[in-house]
Amino acid sequence: MNVVLRGDPEMAAVLAGDPEMAAVLAGEAERQATCLQLIAAENFTSPAVLAALGSPLANKYAEGYPGARHHGGCEIVDVAERIAVDRAKALFGADHANVQSHSGSSAVLAAYAALLRPGDTVLAMGLPYGGHLTHGSPANFSGRWFDFVGYGVDPETGLIDYDEVRALARARRPKAVVCGSIAYPRHIDYAAFRAVADEAGAHLIADAAHPIGLVAGGAAPNPVPYADVVCATTHKVLRGPRGGMLLCRAELAERVDRAVFPFTQGGAQMHTIAAKAVAFGEAATPAFAAYAHQVVANARVLAAGLATEGLEVITGGTDTHLLTVDPAPLGVDGRAARERLAAAGFVLDTCGLPLGTPGPGAPRGLRLGTAAVTTQGMGEAEMARIAVLLAAVLREETDSTAARSEVRDLTVRFPPYPA
Ligand SMILES: *Cc1c(COP(=O)(O)O)cnc(C)c1O
Repeated sequence: MNVVLRGDPEMAAVLAGDPEMAAVLAGEAERQATCLQLIAAENFTSPAVLAALGSPLANKYAEGYPGARHHGGCEIVDVAERIAVDRAKALFGADHANVQSHSGSSAVLAAYAALLRPGDTVLAMGLPYGGHLTHGSPANFSGRWFDFVGYGVDPETGLIDYDEVRALARARRPKAVVCGSIAYPRHIDYAAFRAVADEAGAHLIADAAHPIGLVAGGAAPNPVPYADVVCATTHKVLRGPRGGMLLCRAELAERVDRAVFPFTQGGAQMHTIAAKAVAFGEAATPAFAAYAHQVVANARVLAAGLATEGLEVITGGTDTHLLTVDPAPLGVDGRAARERLAAAGFVLDTCGLPLGTPGPGAPRGLRLGTAAVTTQGMGEAEMARIAVLLAAVLREETDSTAARSEVRDLTVRFPPYPA
C-alpha cells in the first residue's frame, strides 16, 4: 500500500497491465507529496483509510440498511456499517447517524428530502458570502426546487449578523434555516440559529461539512445538540474517505434514512462506509484531538502572518482550519494570485469576498486551510514561513523557481506518507 502512496516506481507492478494509469496514479501521488496543499477542503487520509477504500468491500452490492438489505451476502458488510454508525453516534453524541451519503451534497439533498417539500422557503447563507451550491444556487437542485432566501455577513466585520438572520426569518417564515458555509472562518453560534429557527417554526439544518472534523477533535462547537439534522462530509478536516453523513435526533431517524435510501440514492458504497468507520475510529483518539487543535493553531499563525505581510484577512483571523484573504493590497486579485502561487507549488482556492458588493468577474479572494499541512506534521514555525514566502511570491520578490524549491524542501521534510 505504501508503495502506491509514495508514487514509488513499484507502482508499475501494482497496476502491471496498465502503465498508462500507473503513471497517472504515481504522478498524482508525487504532486500531492511535493506541493503545499492549502485547499481548505482537502486532507491526507491515513493508509488504513486508503486500505479500506481499496478493499474488496468495493465489490459488494448492499441496497438498504444492516439487517434489511435487498441483496444476499451482506452479513459482513452489515457489520462494517453498524460499526460506522455506532462510532459516528459516539463521536458526535448523536441519537442517530446515517453514513451512506455518497458526498456532502448528497447529504444536504437528503436533509432537504427528509424535512421539506418542493417549493418550501429555506433561509441559508447567500452564495456570494460563502453559501454552498446546495444552499440555493440556481445551477443546483436546491435553487430549482426550493425558494431560497440568503443572509449575508456584516460588510465591515465579515461576521454573520444574527439580527439580520432573525429579521429575514420573521419576514419570510422559512420551513428550514440552514447554517454552515464553505468559507466562514469563525465558529457558528448554533444556539442563536436554533432560537431563530424556533421563532420561525422552522427546522434547523446544520451543514457542518467543513468544521465537523474540528468538532470530532473538540476544537469547534458541536451542532448536534441544536440542529434537527446535521449534514457533513467525511473527507475534509475529519480526514476520512470522500463521502457524506447525516446526524439527527431519534424521532427523525426513519425520515432521514428513507431520504437517503431509497429516495435519493441506490446501493451503499460499502468500501467507503468501511473507510468512514476507520476514520471515525481514528478521530476518536487523543492524537486526533491534538491534531484538530493544531490545525486551528496553525490557521491562526498563517492568518496573522499574512496580515503582517499586508494581505487583508477577512474577519481579522480565524477560529477554524480555514481563512479567507484579500490579496488586493499586494496588487493582485484572487485569480492571478492563485496562478502565481501555483507556479511556486502552492495549491489553494480562489473565493468570493463578502465585503462590499460581490460582483461578477475574477474572484477577488483566496481561501486557505491548514488541515492537510497539519496532517503532514507542519507546525506554527512552518506556517509563519509559508506566510512570508506566499507574500514574497505575490509581490514577485522571489522568482517562482526559488520559491518552488523551498516548497519542495518543506514537503520533503514533512512527507504526507512517510516511508
Ligand atoms: C464541501 C461542502 C459540501 C459538499 O460536499 P461534496 O462532498 O463536495 O458534495 C456541502 N456543503 C458545504 C458547506 C461544504 O463545505
